[in-house]
Amino acid sequence: MRKSPTGDMAYERMNTLNGFLRERFGRKMIKLMLDGGFTCPNRDGTKGTGGCLFCNESASGDFARAVSPGSISRALTDQIALFEEKWPDAGYIAYFQNHTNTYAPVEKLKSLFGAALADPRVEGLAVATRPDCLPDDVLEYLGELAKDNFIWVELGLQSSNDNIANTVNRCYPTSEYDLAMQRLCSIGIPTVTHIILGLPGESEDDMKESVRHACLSKTWGIKLHLLNVVKGSRLAADMPDYVPFSSMDEYVSLVCDIIEELPPDVVIHRLTGDAPRKILIAPEWSYRKRTIMNSINHELVRRDSFQGSRLTDINP
Ligand code: SF4
Repeated sequence: MRKSPTGDMAYERMNTLNGFLRERFGRKMIKLMLDGGFTCPNRDGTKGTGGCLFCNESASGDFARAVSPGSISRALTDQIALFEEKWPDAGYIAYFQNHTNTYAPVEKLKSLFGAALADPRVEGLAVATRPDCLPDDVLEYLGELAKDNFIWVELGLQSSNDNIANTVNRCYPTSEYDLAMQRLCSIGIPTVTHIILGLPGESEDDMKESVRHACLSKTWGIKLHLLNVVKGSRLAADMPDYVPFSSMDEYVSLVCDIIEELPPDVVIHRLTGDAPRKILIAPEWSYRKRTIMNSINHELVRRDSFQGSRLTDINP
């Protein structure tokens, strides 16, 4: 456990992205969401149609705004205006979040990512994608970018259990994630693995196993998403009464179990869901992000535990 100069409980007990970036850049860093107008092979019929069971049309990018290379600077300015009064010294990372942000010819990626990185206010790049959308030319380009820039790539694993993945219509096998991880690691690109907690048919052991799988695959960061049933998703249409966890306490307890098993060097990017309240159906308490995060911090204090505190129990 490390000591926070400001008494920040999360910093003391977890290796959070905020803490990592503050140490790396020496000040607060903020991600600016950019929508590059990508689609997804699981929506356009290449791999599937209708998308993953839990995904709505905006594909988790409800806070992002559409950009072209020529409008990126303006989009950045508009977002920075929201933060600069509170954090005048902050730095910024351009985050392409919506849909599958490498699912396009590499020339499009070069123009969009290049325009974002060319903006002097941007000091890093984050790209969310699927493991099956990283062809050789895209990997080569990302590898070139990583030589001179701070970048990371996010992969949506959701579950390492292929049966669960089939149930949610992920449309690629876990072996594809394993291969993408090997290739990204081999060219020095840090990866962040997205895992959803509470998918239909998933046991707590399945969820913990998915996190272990990502850690064994050498993920740099982890995003744990509480499954949100949202309007416009197939989940809401097919299973309208489905509620992922019976209570916030149940979710908080599971997340703390996972944190205790997480290697201390894995950077925690997220510990809950982020669906806008206007489209959220269940769990109805999941929009209370601050309460969930405070509950996780307090539970770690109550247990007197921290990230990796039970790691040796699991991997002696
Ligand atoms: S969750 Fe990602 S991979 Fe699945 S349909 Fe949505 S954008 Fe595509």
